[in-house]
Amino acid sequence: MTPMPLIFAATCDIAGKMRGKAFPADQLEKRLKRGVGWVPTNVQITCFDGIGDSPFGSLGDLLLIPDPASEVNIAFGDAPPEHFMLGDIVTLEGEPWDFCTRQVLRDALARLHRLSGANLHSAFEHEFQLKGSGLPNQGFGRNAFENQRRMLETLMGALKEAGLSPDSIMKEYGPNQFEVVVAPADGAKSADQAVILRELTRSAALHLGEEATFAPILDPASVGNGVHIHLSFHDDDDVPLTYDENGPCGMSQLTDAFAAGVLKYMPHILALTAPSVVSYERLTPHRWSAAYNNLGFRDREASLRVCPVTAKDPASIAQQFNIEYRAADAAACPHLALAAVVHAGCQGIEDGLTAPEATQEDLSLLSADALAARGYARLPETLEAALDSFAASTTVTGWFPDQFADVYRAHKLAEIAHLADRDIDAKCAAYADTY
Ligand code: GLU
Ligand code: MG
Repeated sequence: MTPMPLIFAATCDIAGKMRGKAFPADQLEKRLKRGVGWVPTNVQITCFDGIGDSPFGSLGDLLLIPDPASEVNIAFGDAPPEHFMLGDIVTLEGEPWDFCTRQVLRDALARLHRLSGANLHSAFEHEFQLKGSGLPNQGFGRNAFENQRRMLETLMGALKEAGLSPDSIMKEYGPNQFEVVVAPADGAKSADQAVILRELTRSAALHLGEEATFAPILDPASVGNGVHIHLSFHDDDDVPLTYDENGPCGMSQLTDAFAAGVLKYMPHILALTAPSVVSYERLTPHRWSAAYNNLGFRDREASLRVCPVTAKDPASIAQQFNIEYRAADAAACPHLALAAVVHAGCQGIEDGLTAPEATQEDLSLLSADALAARGYARLPETLEAALDSFAASTTVTGWFPDQFADVYRAHKLAEIAHLADRDIDAKCAAYADTY
């Protein structure tokens, strides 16, 4: 018997999970046209394999068409290569399906370009933890890094082979926590790369006898695993549009308006960028995550941060300059998280908003009124509250296809119900196993 090489065609869905079907590799040409069969109600499979209320029931057929631009074909040791491609979900007539997360992101990016002539460059910075305790007292430590060098070098090699541009990797502050940074990519590609990075991290770890998890938080007494999305704008000739040396915190007018939209709508998009029950344990003050919808200048307690640049001359500064959305985690589908942030930014551009002044103090010491006077608020403190805030804004739900908000909410309510009887440690453990 000769094993048959298979290619896995995949989508990253509302649950932030990569799901799909495999076909024999020698059928690739045919499958690039016809795809593999897919079912509408799959969109309601939660991260715990429950199924949320679905308007589709058992009805309907779709196609998942693999996109060779997202191909990954990586051999870890002598195991068979992991060969997969992300794809687009279309109707049998070939029209984009409303719940195809890649299409939702492309629509948001098209809106940005229509409004401003800008193309987005973005990079997803990921934190993850290895299960088990690891070495103690190793915040940014070399010993813990060396202990995992084989895994970290395997991961960085795999990312490069998959077409990402690895930037750096470190032992993060938390217990057995690591962070991996890659260079920005254009448009929707960076979200594909975020999915690929999560998959290859888990695979690299597994092949070396470890288990990696991107769950938003493992222990409420410790730090969380964030996903920080770095954003910059470029015109069609690749001229950077993010920076203006005379703008507030160096932001161009475009960046300022975009940032203002993201800050204003953050309470309403949080259910998409921090979409798990335990995400809200992470989004609390003094954890260097994001507890308020505040702009920070080089401040890691801000949900939207103007990042430092190392360049000295104005042209290089303009190339490097970026803002960072910190209220995201890896329970979110990267395509949906980025789409939500881009739409919020677009709304800021469309409405001609300007961002409130950057904060430099401990916002947890201010009363709600004092916060409001500065244009800021505490972000929703539970997934339920975040979902209510999403559903309550017709502006925000209007950015998405007609049924999207209702389906999304039903999906997340099923996830919440699944965990209802568990205490917080058991909730964290459930997410540690699924992400
Ligand atoms: N672990 C923090 C988070 O949950 C981020 C720490 C950092 O600034 O890198 O977002
Ligand atoms: Mg970090």
